[in-house]
Amino acid sequence: MKHDPNCLFCKIAAGQIPAKKVYEDEELLVFHDINPWAPVHVLVIPKQHVATLADTGPEHEALLGRMLALAPRLMRDLGVTNGFRVVVNNGPDGGQEVYHLHMHVMGGPRPWAKG
Ligand code: 5GP
Ligand code: ZN
Repeated sequence: MKHDPNCLFCKIAAGQIPAKKVYEDEELLVFHDINPWAPVHVLVIPKQHVATLADTGPEHEALLGRMLALAPRLMRDLGVTNGFRVVVNNGPDGGQEVYHLHMHVMGGPRPWAKG
């Protein structure tokens, strides 16, 4: 499996940096975002190093499908019952800060939202 020794999320996947894990299998790891934008905010990452969504190809389609399909299950298990958001920031203009592919999944009440 491809790893980058200088990558923060590779280090989290390898257990070298602690994280509040909520789900793990052979390919994927899910942990709470350290600086949440929502009451429940987790990051879904592949354990293999892929820098950005734009670096994925046909060989990653099953992995990407699994990441997305996991979102509703995670939110249900974390007690989110009223909807959630899924975001993938890609590249500099996409606001990506950590260059290891990750999917934000955010849920919970949004007291700041209008209506
Ligand atoms: P991006 O802007 O790259 O899509 O989002 C990176 C996310 O990673 C941010 O929401 C940030 O709070 C989160 N993050 C950065 N460093 C750490 C860390 O060391 N641990 C955890 N759990 N999350 C992190
Ligand atoms: Zn990495």
